[in-house]
Amino acid sequence: MYLTPKFHIEGTDQLERLSRSSADLWNQICTWYWRTVDRQNHWLSKTATRRWHCKGHGRLPSQTAQEVAEQFYQAVGSWHDNDRRGNPPKRCDKEYNVLRWTYQGVTLRDDGVLRLSTKRGEDSILIDWPVDEEPRTVEIGKSSGGFVVRAQYDTEPVDRTTGDKIAGIDLGEKHLAAVFTGQDAFTINGGELRALRHYQNSLKAKLDAKIDRKERGSSRWTKLVQTKNKQLDHIDNKITDLLHKLSRKVVEMLLERRVSAIGIGDVRGIRDRIDYGSQMNQRLHQWAYGEFARMIEYKAKLAGITVERVDEAYTSQECPQCGHRKKPSGREYACSECGFRGHRDVVGAANIRRRYVAKRKYVGNDNSSRLPGVMASPSGVRFHPHLSCSSRSERKTNRQFA
Ligand SMILES: [Zn+2]
Repeated sequence: MYLTPKFHIEGTDQLERLSRSSADLWNQICTWYWRTVDRQNHWLSKTATRRWHCKGHGRLPSQTAQEVAEQFYQAVGSWHDNDRRGNPPKRCDKEYNVLRWTYQGVTLRDDGVLRLSTKRGEDSILIDWPVDEEPRTVEIGKSSGGFVVRAQYDTEPVDRTTGDKIAGIDLGEKHLAAVFTGQDAFTINGGELRALRHYQNSLKAKLDAKIDRKERGSSRWTKLVQTKNKQLDHIDNKITDLLHKLSRKVVEMLLERRVSAIGIGDVRGIRDRIDYGSQMNQRLHQWAYGEFARMIEYKAKLAGITVERVDEAYTSQECPQCGHRKKPSGREYACSECGFRGHRDVVGAANIRRRYVAKRKYVGNDNSSRLPGVMASPSGVRFHPHLSCSSRSERKTNRQFA
């Protein structure tokens, strides 16, 4: 878990100089990176960049210089992850850039002053530190009238679980997540995510059509492309917020149910299981599930829950009691072999749980790996009841953005 305090400090000549030096380095990295892409059609690696540009750059301490490369490659990376939409880090004319120190360069002295290491021969940077904890990273950036300091603490995962239950989590389209704990089940409704995604797709199609009618490269064209990127980014942010909120909810509910270990379906295969429709953006789709799984994973780990990915092939088709396979139809899964009946959405989660239990050969107090013959319906979680109907919410958001 990260805590990030933020406060202002007065500027000094040294900070001023170093921030300019950091900007210099950024500009240099940025220029060379894109030049290599343009002229040689080659993406310069981070290692190469660090070797060629970060050593002995001006008065920057070497670690801070390395962090500028880190920052640049993070920006490039998130642009790639985002389907290369929005702006790549192409601005190579910064005047100031953030200075970043990682833990190696940070010391909290006994008198409550934080010391940031600098290049040999330079004075260290000293900051009155308001908290007892030594931060993992410190960032200092130029702001109006001075500098802003941001620090991150890396607190260790706390063991908050007192439980001994194992849960299986299945990610899917109808329900973003279905969870089975061995005794009860709950689902997280995916309606709002679907609505946002539909809206994003229709907006993209609408704006693309408009853009196509303009002459490529004209000022109207450029303006429309910018508008499009901005609006799509805005929805991306909303989706990320939603995923954070829902993943937090999943972990809360796991803790309430005294779950200490989870198996989560590996979403790499999810593409095969979802009907996209003709205009769906597949990459966004996969991205959202991957992101959601990742969020549950790290939030659960921070809460002291053991997490493992489980191969989810056929988990939606298999009878959790006897292993017989068939494609389910309707809301209920009914096994023709052993008579098992259960709510369809929970069957996947139950199978993932079973595989996980088998994989770990888990020995504990939990001996409910066998399922009751009839599985209860899951309780649903839904955040915005008014958004439960995706078609209605779509119209609503459309109007809002029109
Ligand atoms: Zn069966």
